[in-house]
Amino acid sequence: MRAYDPGHDLPALREAFGASLAELGSNENPQGPSPRALKAMRAALAGAFRYPDPRGTLLKRALAEHLKVGTERIVLGNGSHELLMLLAQSFADARHSVAFSRFGFAVFPIAAAAAGAAALCVPALPRGDAGAPFGHDLDAITTAIRRDTRIVYLANPNNPTGTWFTDAALERFLERAPRDVLVVVDEAYQEYVEAPGLTTALGFAARFPNLVVTRTFSKAYALAGMRIGYLVAHPTVVEVLERLRESFNVNHIALAGAAEALRDKPWLAKARAFNRAEREWLRGELLERGFRCLPSQTNFLLCVLAHKADALERHLFERGVIVRPMGGYGLPRALRIGVGSRVENRRLLRAMDSFGQAGRR
Ligand SMILES: *Cc1c(COP(=O)(O)O)cnc(C)c1O
Repeated sequence: MRAYDPGHDLPALREAFGASLAELGSNENPQGPSPRALKAMRAALAGAFRYPDPRGTLLKRALAEHLKVGTERIVLGNGSHELLMLLAQSFADARHSVAFSRFGFAVFPIAAAAAGAAALCVPALPRGDAGAPFGHDLDAITTAIRRDTRIVYLANPNNPTGTWFTDAALERFLERAPRDVLVVVDEAYQEYVEAPGLTTALGFAARFPNLVVTRTFSKAYALAGMRIGYLVAHPTVVEVLERLRESFNVNHIALAGAAEALRDKPWLAKARAFNRAEREWLRGELLERGFRCLPSQTNFLLCVLAHKADALERHLFERGVIVRPMGGYGLPRALRIGVGSRVENRRLLRAMDSFGQAGRR
């Protein structure tokens, strides 16, 4: 295994560029957290000398009400990353395999490797596919499932491709998947979703006890720095995960901030509307400049160039615009660009305009 590549040295770049840095590389929400969540976190600071509630009771209650599920179905995590790892650690070992799509979320193969399980990396939909180029091929994943497969990881919508599949497609997948295989649907961007036929996998939880849904407060809720996420699963699955979960994995301030962020529904509605408008504006601007950008239900765009993207990425970097190169994902011609504030997005476009025609399609 190789260590996580954190990309550029952001603290050094913040020092060098100051307020003119455009950080579009990590799919964060540039609006920052809800003021109500910030206030709750400030108030919680005074309790920092106590251990946090190891059960996370208050947040679980708020989530249970929000999601219309019982608290016994919820596990809280230090980001959903931790939960994705915990799932493999708890349910797979060297006798098993774990399946996921090529171009799927980067944590999936790491979770499989950390558990010592074999990784079944299933080819994605062809790049020319009209609906979801580079997206999950659910039929191929169904076929790839072996007798030793314990977990299938799906991301919907997926990072870095931004591709998604409908509720109906997931239902068909769940109907065909063996019941002793955990189907983990990573819904990190669910709060942004509004495509026809796509809502959430949670609607299938009652019918499929092998379904696990993970979510995060890092994206739409703008709490990436607090490290907090959750999953919803059958109580018997939760019971197993609880054996290996670190007792104080979620800190006190994150618990307070997440619960209040959840209650501030008007703020979330505004954040979604801002992201939608800004994303579509940015996508239009990029398309106009000849870049091919996949449709997106998230707060980022995957842009595919006619040539390798590293020269453009370098050009942007030198101008204080941070985007994510996709070479590590096997997409050397693509860049993943987070939807920033209007000021950041304009800075991105300006930096792109000063790049020669050579990198364009
Ligand atoms: C950002 C992201 C996560 C979330 O990570 P956290 O650990 O909750 O910050 C999970 N899955 C996908 C697909 C993501 O893009």
